[in-house]
Amino acid sequence: MNTAIQNKLSELLALNPELTQVSSLGSGHINTTWLLTNAGQQFVVQKLNTHVFENPAQLVNNAQLIEQHLSAKQQANTYPLDIVKHISTHQGEHLIIINNAYYRVLNFISQSASEDIVKEPKHAEQAAFAFGTFTRALLDFDASSLYPVIADFHNLAMRFEQLNTAIATATNERLQQCKTVIDYCIAQQHLVKELAEVTADLPTRVCHYDTKINNMLYCSNTYKAKAVIDLDTCMAGFLLYDFGDMVRTFCCAEAEDSTNLGKVVIRKEVFTALVKGYLAPLKSAISNKEQASLLLGAKVMPLMLSVRFLTDYLNNDVYFKTTHAEHNLERAQNQLALYKNILSNQSWMHKALMQ
Ligand code: ATP
Ligand code: MG
Ligand code: MG
Repeated sequence: MNTAIQNKLSELLALNPELTQVSSLGSGHINTTWLLTNAGQQFVVQKLNTHVFENPAQLVNNAQLIEQHLSAKQQANTYPLDIVKHISTHQGEHLIIINNAYYRVLNFISQSASEDIVKEPKHAEQAAFAFGTFTRALLDFDASSLYPVIADFHNLAMRFEQLNTAIATATNERLQQCKTVIDYCIAQQHLVKELAEVTADLPTRVCHYDTKINNMLYCSNTYKAKAVIDLDTCMAGFLLYDFGDMVRTFCCAEAEDSTNLGKVVIRKEVFTALVKGYLAPLKSAISNKEQASLLLGAKVMPLMLSVRFLTDYLNNDVYFKTTHAEHNLERAQNQLALYKNILSNQSWMHKALMQ
């Protein structure tokens, strides 16, 4: 962060700029995040990514509605986690515009830790407990009051349409390169119909839509769940998306772009711990049907990601950042390997989920 912005933010927060120090924080991919310290006070500053989020004011508004709902529960001792809140400037603003860029300030959750890959099953249990607790506390919040920050984010039918368009316009070279992956994905399109049928009579909930492990914080000394963070994509949706994304990102020990496909497998003990943590706060509040639907999410999410990576590969890598020519294709193959592994394990996964 340059000194002029640092000084401006200090001024807006009524802090002495000479005492302000700023350093990078975390490993987020979307926004730019800093820790701002000033005479013992700590704040998180984020520069919002306006390529991804076209309407920052709506995003902040969504997060504040959720903050207020959770704060009321916390005051009534029915929400056991910490809450990320927007801090206002001395003029009462929560969204700060400097040189046409959008910033916001959040309370820093201290004595916390985050991790990028689940190391132990008990960490998966605590992380899933955090997301389950967050969802439970928002069951009585009107999800339709949230602005759809990214329209059609988890729309599988639309992701397949985008793939078909990309196939129609791709170069022959790229088409040849990924023909088997395309054929396999297209053969899985029946999931679109299954998803529509299953969700037809499921309730719409507040979904976090980015339930990866570094979007929650642990207590740094005990590794118990401390907070759910990164509420940027909270929108109306079905629980199966959040559950599916946890399975996708917690249960496999390999990175999303690993080419070591033999290792792209679900860790049984991590899945079992995830289910335990997620359902502890939620089981009594959801129907058996909704509980059973979660497994469909575990199939839909890696398939959807595979389709998205493949589409971007065919479109010559315009969306996801890549480091080499085959990067998106490798990611698509990785996510398909995970999808296939889930298909072959779904019998015990269903049992573990419904126990
Ligand atoms: P993503 O790539 O998941 O979309 P992002 O760019 O939206 O991430 P955040 O997840 O909001 O950014 O923040 C990045 C990291 O900064 C988090 O993973 C966490 O380590 C740290 N962080 C963010 N907010 C807080 C907070 N309020 N208190 C403590 N640490 C935080
Ligand atoms: Mg994040
Ligand atoms: Mg984010």
